[in-house]
Amino acid sequence: MNLKKIITYLSLSITITLIYCNQKKNTNNKDSFNEKLTNNNKLIPKHIKKIPHFTNSCYASSALSLFIPIFKENMNFNKLKIKKTKPLNGNDLITNSFIKIIDEMYDKNNNSLRIKDGTIKDFFDAFKNKYPFFDNSQQHDSQEFLSYLINTLQESNSLISINDELNSYDDLKPIDILKKWNNFKLRSSEIIKNFWGLFLSKIQCPKCKKKHYSYQNFIFYMSPVVMNKIEDCLNNFEEKEILTDSNKWYCTDCKDFRNAITTTKVIEYPKNLFLYLKRFNLISKEKITKEIKVKPLLKLKNINNKEFTFKLLGAIIHYGSIRGGHYVVCIYDKSINQWILVDDIGDSKIISEKEALDKISNNGYLLFYNKLK
Ligand SMILES: [Zn+2]
Repeated sequence: MNLKKIITYLSLSITITLIYCNQKKNTNNKDSFNEKLTNNNKLIPKHIKKIPHFTNSCYASSALSLFIPIFKENMNFNKLKIKKTKPLNGNDLITNSFIKIIDEMYDKNNNSLRIKDGTIKDFFDAFKNKYPFFDNSQQHDSQEFLSYLINTLQESNSLISINDELNSYDDLKPIDILKKWNNFKLRSSEIIKNFWGLFLSKIQCPKCKKKHYSYQNFIFYMSPVVMNKIEDCLNNFEEKEILTDSNKWYCTDCKDFRNAITTTKVIEYPKNLFLYLKRFNLISKEKITKEIKVKPLLKLKNINNKEFTFKLLGAIIHYGSIRGGHYVVCIYDKSINQWILVDDIGDSKIISEKEALDKISNNGYLLFYNKLK
């Protein structure tokens, strides 16, 4: 056992000892450490239920295990209703079966440690019927799955077209946008209120200085894995880029193609922010295994240089290579003030914050943050 492992072991033992300092002393010394772990795991709240594992389905179960507590605890859940008016479309069937998973998870009378196979199967059937490219037993991208799920929930619960709204912002100055965006959110769905952020793309002609503004919503804030600090990665994302060669921009004032400068900046971060680390290089077919120093708090600046603080509340972790591997989840549960590791092929267990941050720093793939007020 190397020094790092010994320290990790010791810190875990100390955490467990502190939690159980008032408990009756365990007289069975033989398996006392394992016994303490089992006792410790009795603290895991009932709603942390294991999602049944089907072939390679950890991409979906990890996304559900991360997203459902966020969804339940941050949204006005009552506004997302099961639809009974027939005919139900594909979006409605996914939403209804998704709500049934949440109901089973948060049922106070349900002491089971896992969700019923049938409940998950109904959800997968609805999901794969609407999105047939997921209808196989291959490993899929957990972030891609979650993206389809959130967008489906949005479409199922709102008649508002976000594209119409954003197109109406075209060429308006950034100063005019925030008020419009906030008004739009007030009359939109719980999904938009909680998960949608807004980007500004500004293109400027180098010759006549004409500026063109366009706006785009986002749920997942992507970051390249190029530096040790995530905050630096994200600040670099806001750097300028020049559109050259085949990417030249057509300036309608000069009536010519120009090597225009484009900058993309965040106008508003969502209340619930998913930070998506681009660990998979689809060109080289390699996974970027570089460690990122993840801290419990993340400070990000918007277009007006206003700083916001985000608290890390969970992450999907990927072990293995781009060709195959396994997804697990680390989530912070505020009801017990502890981090929990959820694995669809193992038991859920309470882990120390240090252990959670180490796992997320080394193999974190999709990180979830809550904006502090
Ligand atoms: Zn021009």
